[in-house]
Amino acid sequence: MNRRQRIGFIGLGAMGLPMAKNLIKNGYILNVSTYRNRTPVDELKELGAVEQNSVSELVSESDIVISILPTDREMESVLLSGEVLDQLTSEKILIEMTSGSPAMMKKVNEIYKGMGVRVLDAPVSGGTAGAEKGTLTVMAGGDAKLVEECKPIMEAMAEKIYVVGQIGAGKAIKAINQLLASIHMIASAEALALAEKLEIETDILKKVVGNSSGASWMLENKIDSLVERNFNPGFKLNLMKKDVQIAVDEAGNDKLPLASYVLDLYKEVANQDGERDFSAIGKKVLV
Ligand code: NDP
Repeated sequence: MNRRQRIGFIGLGAMGLPMAKNLIKNGYILNVSTYRNRTPVDELKELGAVEQNSVSELVSESDIVISILPTDREMESVLLSGEVLDQLTSEKILIEMTSGSPAMMKKVNEIYKGMGVRVLDAPVSGGTAGAEKGTLTVMAGGDAKLVEECKPIMEAMAEKIYVVGQIGAGKAIKAINQLLASIHMIASAEALALAEKLEIETDILKKVVGNSSGASWMLENKIDSLVERNFNPGFKLNLMKKDVQIAVDEAGNDKLPLASYVLDLYKEVANQDGERDFSAIGKKVLV
């Protein structure tokens, strides 16, 4: 893909801002516009991004649109708005990176496909640290040739790019990952609570369990902030709650008893700490 193609980036939050920076670093022309907070737009302009006056202009001036928005609700209200749809032409490509539902992804794709727009369903994993370092994992659903065509763009933001199936499969595998991640997070907090009670040092816990059958990414990567009771996001608890809800809804009929239980815990903690890091679920068990 041609490096000088113009990319319009929608969703300049904890993930989108560092991802957009990496696109600029890799030589892409980046179009941005302000939604509510203009700080990320100013930051990106300093690095060479072009500010457009509206999302409609952003789409009109871009060959490729990348979106990474909070939830299905914003996917629908932005990507299926008249403002955006009116600017779509059959040469354009959408790389949709929100952790949304498979159903919403399919809905967006159907409408875009009808207009000749090619779409990739490409959510990510790796957190804000991965977004900053450009080491994200992309779970790409869609046409394999389109994945290949868009690979250089995704490689500016990610280390690993997996083709996981058709449109909807990216969102599906991301929801499965989040089901595990949400459970592993509360499990790691419980492990720490017990270690603190039994006076086991955290470094020993990390080293020994980290090399034993109880190891998990969450235990390895989140235990230090749990020890410090540092719940600055990161990845907001409300977003994790949304992800577990997608998994539970997709399974249907109470088919995921553990995930359903954990979802209730995230819902409870969200009342007070929804905008804090999802590790704040640890408050349920840590003293
Ligand atoms: P944030 O809440 O930090 O950012 C969301 C961004 O979307 C903000 O820039 C917000 O703009 C923008 N936005 C909201 N509504 C609109 C709209 N209608 N039009 C244009 N822009 C809008 O979320 P994250 O970056 O943390 O997460 C984004 C997605 O990535 C979520 O689906 C999340 O689950 C997923 N994800 C997050 C990870 C993480 O570690 N944070 C890791 C992997 C995936 P404004 O600030 O102006 O309101």
